[in-house]
Amino acid sequence: MSNRKPEWLRAKLPGGPEYKEVRKIVDDHKLHTVCESAHCPNMGECWARGTATVMILGNVCTRSCRFCNIETGRPTELDLGEPARVAESVAKMNLKHCVITSVARDELEDGGASVWAATIRAIRRLNPGTAIEVLIPDMQGKQASLDTILDAEPEILNHNVETVERLQKAVRVQARYDRSRWVLRHAKGRGFVTKTSLMLGVGETREEVVRTMRDLRDDDVNILTLGQYLQPTAKHLPVDRWVTPEEFREWHEYGLSLGFGVVESGPLVRSSYHAEEQSDLYFGRNHAGGSLASA
Ligand code: SF4
Repeated sequence: MSNRKPEWLRAKLPGGPEYKEVRKIVDDHKLHTVCESAHCPNMGECWARGTATVMILGNVCTRSCRFCNIETGRPTELDLGEPARVAESVAKMNLKHCVITSVARDELEDGGASVWAATIRAIRRLNPGTAIEVLIPDMQGKQASLDTILDAEPEILNHNVETVERLQKAVRVQARYDRSRWVLRHAKGRGFVTKTSLMLGVGETREEVVRTMRDLRDDDVNILTLGQYLQPTAKHLPVDRWVTPEEFREWHEYGLSLGFGVVESGPLVRSSYHAEEQSDLYFGRNHAGGSLASA
């Protein structure tokens, strides 16, 4: 495999008035975004469309996933003013659909669930018309923590399995496939719309992708996104292969044939990419119909 990125992975460069406005809102409210912390290739596009994914509970993570660029360590504080600032930033960005994510805070008894719930409620109070999608960690499989978040009633519960079962240990050191599936199943059992994401190009086989997609459908997951893994720095897991746009289109078709409500599949697709469009499609708010391929 060539180390050079194929041309289909070239993303839009950051810039423009909307981009600068998002930059200002994020800075003024002293927020972190996963867009920046994860070096997401889509910042030029998403921020120019006036949207960013805010990352709560700090920017130091207790986990050390080998694909992720977020700093690992022992976080030192809890910022109790954060929920209100996140809510204000959602209002300033005038978002109809917001995606909030967080680092893992395994050192806290509730994994940060109370801050998650406070954030959801603060956003809803200030932005009653905004749909809230939460992209959460596995809360170490603690049902009480997950229920604390679900009790705040986000519109979409998003939790990423990231990769196939065999590669979990190598890719997400402290996570487990069965635990991630449990998060999705538990949320579904409580009646929530669920969403998950897979990175391709970390060493998975075709058969393993098929099995994973079937597992997720067995868990009644509603929205699935698939994208190319990109190595953030030389210290991270190397890219195993460049998945072609054509293969992404095949996975898109296959996902729809399995019965997922919405599948977005393409080289630059990330868990929070086009989240509003996916939600509109899922809830039937997109009168043009169709589905998202992004390849
Ligand atoms: S895809 Fe998600 S993480 Fe990447 S820039 Fe867009 S909103 Fe941010």
